Amino acid sequence: MADGIFPVDIGPQYEGEVIRKTDMRVELGGPNVKTKFELVSLKQADEVTHEKVEVIGPDIDGIEEGSSQPIALLVHVAGARLERDIEAVLERRLHLYLNYIDGFYHMNQRQDVWMRLNKASFGKGLKSLRSLGEILIFLYTSEIDIIEKIQVTFITDPTRIEELLPEAMKVYRARDEKIRGLRESDVEEFYSCALCQSFAPTHICCITPERIANCGAINWFDGKAAYQMDPEGPIQAVPKGDIIDPVRGEYRGADKLALDKSMGAYDKVFLHSAFGYPHTSCGCFQAICFYIPEVDAFGIVHRDFEGGTVIGSPFTALAGDTSGGRQVEGFLGIALEYLRSPSFLKADGGWYRIVWMPRAIQEMYRDACPMDLQNKIASENDVTNVEELVAFLDRAGHPWVKGEVSLPV
Ligand code: SF4
Repeated sequence: MADGIFPVDIGPQYEGEVIRKTDMRVELGGPNVKTKFELVSLKQADEVTHEKVEVIGPDIDGIEEGSSQPIALLVHVAGARLERDIEAVLERRLHLYLNYIDGFYHMNQRQDVWMRLNKASFGKGLKSLRSLGEILIFLYTSEIDIIEKIQVTFITDPTRIEELLPEAMKVYRARDEKIRGLRESDVEEFYSCALCQSFAPTHICCITPERIANCGAINWFDGKAAYQMDPEGPIQAVPKGDIIDPVRGEYRGADKLALDKSMGAYDKVFLHSAFGYPHTSCGCFQAICFYIPEVDAFGIVHRDFEGGTVIGSPFTALAGDTSGGRQVEGFLGIALEYLRSPSFLKADGGWYRIVWMPRAIQEMYRDACPMDLQNKIASENDVTNVEELVAFLDRAGHPWVKGEVSLPV
């Protein structure tokens, strides 16, 4: 694709390429960097300078080899047929398009974004973020004809990124809030996303009004907008079909999707349970629900949590156990926003089955936590191992441990 125009080749054959630390020329964002985000914004035509690429802060060849750099990637688009709903869909295309680039890796999304460039592609001449911007503009305008104008800005100056991050967080929150009143019973279609199959070939996201995609970047409205924009694209409409199990969230349409898109690996999926046939997990999930057998309950850990969880394993180790497009009983990759779903793990006891969560996400989702559970979920500040957890839960009078919670049947 586009031979000779850019310093390196681009095309779907490069999707799934992983760049090890030893091969890495530079890392943009990722776990070692606090300030990072990517955002696509719809603008008025006169606010966008078509095909402009701007770099604010050090460019790739000015960043120390092997280091990790803060990054903000801003894409401004304009077009008479573009609507606000499409922003999140176009933003998720960054994952697809950046992974098309030979020697470039893109993972995660929003304020968790993680990119790497390898030494070989740097050596071939991919030494500037300007080239990345030009590739993005080429791909967006070749594939999505309703984009009339597009401008790309990379910011590597940490101070500038810190200034802009709160505004981006506001946009992400507004997108998440929009979906909260809608229920699975209100719609006839769910949406599937296969974008992560390059890394996890048997993974397929099933996106419903009550289950945002694992990456947290695509809710049901975004899925709908993406399908309308590109009916042949990676996001497809899924007829919901009859409901087989309303407690676990099993639908005939979602089962058929699992069978068709997992290459026959799975023929059932429970959308709201971590047991039996849990939703597959790719590698982009924002958090992991993990089973703690000693208390027959769950912990949740998010991507930004540093250090060991209550069972000793850090996020990275648990991610290895969870990811790869498998259904792993007791290990579930989720978006943090799923904590606000009325169907959050409803077959397993929902919030009442959660016994450990990092303090940061307890604070962030305090409004979603039932009142009678507040201060009864342990964090890293309360306990460091399962023995201490058991004592904490007894002291706090956690309803699950007291046997006050009955599971729905
Ligand atoms: S996590 Fe799911 S919705 Fe998000 S990009 Fe991957 S497959 Fe698509």
